[in-house]
Amino acid sequence: MTARIIDGKAIAAAMRASLAERVAALAFSPGLAVVLVGDDPASAVYVRSKDRAAQAAGIAVRTIRLPADTSEEELLTRIARLNADPAVDAILVQLPLPGHIATQAVIEAIDPDKDVDGFHPLNVGRLATGHPGLVPCTPLGVMKLLAASGVVLEGARVLVLGRSTIVGRPMAALLLAANTTLTIAHSRTRDLAAECRRAEVLVAATGRAEMVRGDWIAPGAVVIDVGVNRLADGRLVGDVAFAEACEVAAAITPVPGGVGPMTIACLLKNTVEAAMMQRGLLAKAA
Ligand code: NAP
Repeated sequence: MTARIIDGKAIAAAMRASLAERVAALAFSPGLAVVLVGDDPASAVYVRSKDRAAQAAGIAVRTIRLPADTSEEELLTRIARLNADPAVDAILVQLPLPGHIATQAVIEAIDPDKDVDGFHPLNVGRLATGHPGLVPCTPLGVMKLLAASGVVLEGARVLVLGRSTIVGRPMAALLLAANTTLTIAHSRTRDLAAECRRAEVLVAATGRAEMVRGDWIAPGAVVIDVGVNRLADGRLVGDVAFAEACEVAAAITPVPGGVGPMTIACLLKNTVEAAMMQRGLLAKAA
């Protein structure tokens, strides 16, 4: 079998075009503030792509770059100002933060209605209990990819590999809400390969380059590779051994060009919806 490639780039482009139309029809520009602390090169690249994509969609984006030695107090003051600013509908603090800043304190300082990353405990709780709220962009992007690819989730045996708060856990909550029969695997899972082989849909989010081998995958499974890993030779690869997996899977996302573009498209979607909710144009989360 040669797997069908799930083209995240194309699906994200279609999503961004329809969001741009939605924004053009509004009487205002949704406002997104992106806060970057320090000079981590990967974070700088992510922030630049988010900035560009937001502008292209008609979102008024304000990128705030702060030095690496910014104190936690100063950052919290900045966030309080953004919370109070009516021109700012959405706030994203790029992670990871420098070690001297308590990440959770920063996440909890963001107004939950403006929390477009969906990391605030109120939004985490809403997702866990099946209530509407802002949902983390990467897992949301995976759900959109699966829907656009016509994958039937109801009743399907799905395995999420990874349990981070950014990807694995919210991914699991969304898949459970979609009525899948769910397994969450992690570094303490016994016989990981056997667990993976049982899955009809496998979502890999470990940050371990090419860890999932072809013989870990059930023939005909759908494979979503969230991982982004830079090899010593400079190549970017996922958590799945792509060439091997292509021989077995029915469909697979490439790295790059799979989940990554969807994360950005979902950030724009969350920004537009947060703006509409705050202006009473869309029902607010309960
Ligand atoms: P993370 O916080 O490091 O979590 C990794 C998870 O994988 C943990 O739950 C860990 O288990 C599990 N794990 C690690 N090694 C394992 C092993 N050998 N066997 C089984 N499980 C293992 O990473 P993350 O933030 O979730 O990110 C995961 C990957 O997705 C990274 O490559 C990251 O760059 C990528 N990512 C991509 C996007 C995108 O937009 N494309 C967005 C976010 C993240 P324990 O909990 O037991 O330690």
